[in-house]
Amino acid sequence: MNKQFADIAFPTAVRQVFTYKTRDDSIKPGMRVWVPLRNEFAIGMVVRVHSEKPEFETRPIERILDSEPIMNETVLKLTEWIHRFYFCSWGEAIQAALPVGLNFSSEKRLRVKKGFKGEITEEELAILEEIEEKSITLKDAEKRWRDGKGKSFFKKALKQGWISIWEEPKQKVDFKKIKHWRIKDGIKPDSVLEELTEKERGTKWVQAFEELTTLELPLPNSELQEMDELFTTYSLNRIEEEGWIESVDLPVKGDEIYKGEFEPDQLNELMGEQEGAFEQIREALDSKSFKSFLLFGVTGSGKTEVYIHALKHALDQGRGGLVLVPEIALTPQTVKRFYQIFGDQIAVLHSRLNEREKYEAWQSLKSGEKRIAIGPRSAVFAPVENLGLIVVDEEHDNSYKQQNPAPRYHARDVAIMRAHMEGAVTILGSATPGMVSVQAVKEEKHTLLHLPMRPTGTMPEVIILNMKEYKSAMRGPLTVELYEETQKALDRKEQVIFLYNRRGFASFMQCEDCGHIPESPESSTSLTYHKRKNILLDHYSGYSRRADTRCELCGSSDLKTKGSGTQQVEEQVQEIFPDARLLRMDMDTTSGKHGHQKIYDQFLSGGADILIGTQIVAKGLDFPNVTVVGVINADTELAFPSFRAGERMYQLLSQVAGRAGRAEKPGVVYVQTWKPEHPAIRYAKTHDFKTFARYELHQREMLMFPPYSRMIVFQFKSPSWSKVQAVADKFCDAMRMVVGENPVMGPSPSVIEWMSGKYQWEANIKLDRKYNASAIEKLLDTIFKKYDSIKPKGAGAVRINVDVDAVE
Ligand code: ADP
Ligand code: ZN
Repeated sequence: MNKQFADIAFPTAVRQVFTYKTRDDSIKPGMRVWVPLRNEFAIGMVVRVHSEKPEFETRPIERILDSEPIMNETVLKLTEWIHRFYFCSWGEAIQAALPVGLNFSSEKRLRVKKGFKGEITEEELAILEEIEEKSITLKDAEKRWRDGKGKSFFKKALKQGWISIWEEPKQKVDFKKIKHWRIKDGIKPDSVLEELTEKERGTKWVQAFEELTTLELPLPNSELQEMDELFTTYSLNRIEEEGWIESVDLPVKGDEIYKGEFEPDQLNELMGEQEGAFEQIREALDSKSFKSFLLFGVTGSGKTEVYIHALKHALDQGRGGLVLVPEIALTPQTVKRFYQIFGDQIAVLHSRLNEREKYEAWQSLKSGEKRIAIGPRSAVFAPVENLGLIVVDEEHDNSYKQQNPAPRYHARDVAIMRAHMEGAVTILGSATPGMVSVQAVKEEKHTLLHLPMRPTGTMPEVIILNMKEYKSAMRGPLTVELYEETQKALDRKEQVIFLYNRRGFASFMQCEDCGHIPESPESSTSLTYHKRKNILLDHYSGYSRRADTRCELCGSSDLKTKGSGTQQVEEQVQEIFPDARLLRMDMDTTSGKHGHQKIYDQFLSGGADILIGTQIVAKGLDFPNVTVVGVINADTELAFPSFRAGERMYQLLSQVAGRAGRAEKPGVVYVQTWKPEHPAIRYAKTHDFKTFARYELHQREMLMFPPYSRMIVFQFKSPSWSKVQAVADKFCDAMRMVVGENPVMGPSPSVIEWMSGKYQWEANIKLDRKYNASAIEKLLDTIFKKYDSIKPKGAGAVRINVDVDAVE
């Protein structure tokens, strides 16, 4: 029997697939199609073909866009799981898994009305002919006939219906191009320069030309202008006028990834515990069935070494590999290590690759030409064929969770699910595993592999500086001790890193006398200060009270609200070390394409004495000449209103400590804090993760926070405060009707209660950890149905986002 129908997913928020009539047998799941949707056409993805005739009239598929499925069966199944578990539409999940150039984009194109006869001039006819011939896009047309007669005729022709607009699938991979300069054909720079007079040679633009001839052209205009002040728009144009250079539009070049020598057989011998760990992984690979490992080892214990051996084994089995890393730009060293062994077998799915490179990397995996993919979160969907191993490095990293837009998936959990589906092995690696993974080891879902020692180097010393004792002994933001140690290091011509924490948006209250930050009696998380109503608020439980006027601990009235605005730290540090050369690294300074790498290289080559930065400096960087690392305001992390604040604090400190101890010269880490007794700080000092984890899990269990529950966060957004509040209230009513009082918390205004013109509220529900994809889907469906039956007037203006296993 012919499969006459196809279910098709669209990248809209509607959690439904639509059934269409198929044209012939060639259609398969994983192919894109062009179909009518409401009054327009749209691209959709075939997710199922079948012969179950629906009750309603089905419309036919207009066109099949791919001759072969562009998504394999497993990845398609994976997107279905995401659709159910994270409660998004199937199409949204599919969209996240497709590369640019092969997605759902369509564009508006123009057509000339058939049999058009009108009284128009010669020029106007030419315009129509051009549209007809090139089936030009609306966007290009608006650029092409931007002004004058062309524009007015174009407008008229549209109005009269002489030309019409059609939605068309954007099929061709259409890569962005930018202006490059190159030496004009036939120009011999040396002879050109020889013919010039002395005076001519003295001009800036001729100097610019001389400079240009030393470079490997073509180079982008923007890059040249950044490179040297000789290359001004004026001088480049002047040289062009002379006929020596010309401009061409070429595709944007992506970030350089490491390319160089590689030697597949240059594996290091594994040492000590590394060997035992690898043995277990090898056994699992040989059994060709799913198994997941938690590889727990401090920075420098050789986790990467183990990944490399495991990957090599998977390749030897004829299988492929997938390596997830938090952010490639922050881990150039890691990528380099893999490249040195596997070389051209690796496709790097770098977020800063240009579109063409991303597309090509994807194709090279799909065709089987490359067998290992390495990349951030979205690389979990890479079309690696015959997948044997997935590595999730720094598995605790928050960047693995997508926040916005949907699908709000966690790449670590998707990786585990994918491995499950493909009978592959996963290795989750970390020096500070997340509590979810620690608990999964206890429940025997993951097998623990422990690398306790550093084969090279030692752990750095961590010194806690109690701010209570230094109140009157501060130099700017630094305690006298940190100030003096910094000065000594600078005198020895060594380098220093200062890390200040910036949790931009949440403001909190802190006592200036004892450092106390008020906590919620209900969830034990820090209370957020909301200026609008002058209240302290717990955004988990909705508990709130008027902002304190006296410290509840010591009675002092010296309370301050704190939050963002730590930028002055840089100025203050410059003031106390006037001769030091400072470098800043944070989101603002690293936003450029090479921003991060530039700062990194500059600091590494001794171009600055002190590097000041946010959390970002704690990640993935090695500086051998750094001997002092100062964490200026450790408490800001603890003040963050999240039940994960302690876990984060520990991770941050241990990452910083990992940085400082890698080189020949031992480093010392100084941590300035008002809460030296806090377990996250105490155990980070002694590098005692196990004890910290035991404490932290106990805390979580008492309050039934994850990993003892599965938490779903609902976010409500609207420009109207009253509507958003009414909807949040009703939604919580609906939840309580379905699951009872206990698991539901909220609603309350979000930590950021106002953003991009919208008020934000939220509510949570804590479910049993056992809720799987279909149970979550069923429950949420029921809740939304209940809510629909009681929702208030104007509810349509309020957006409701669902975030399963939210990570704030
Ligand atoms: P991690 O990934 O846990 O931070 P790495 O794998 O990067 O640890 O190892 C840290 C350093 O120690 C690296 O320079 C690595 O080359 C070296 N190293 C680790 N294990 C070995 C080994 N078995 N043989 C040689 N060098 C090793
Ligand atoms: Zn106090």
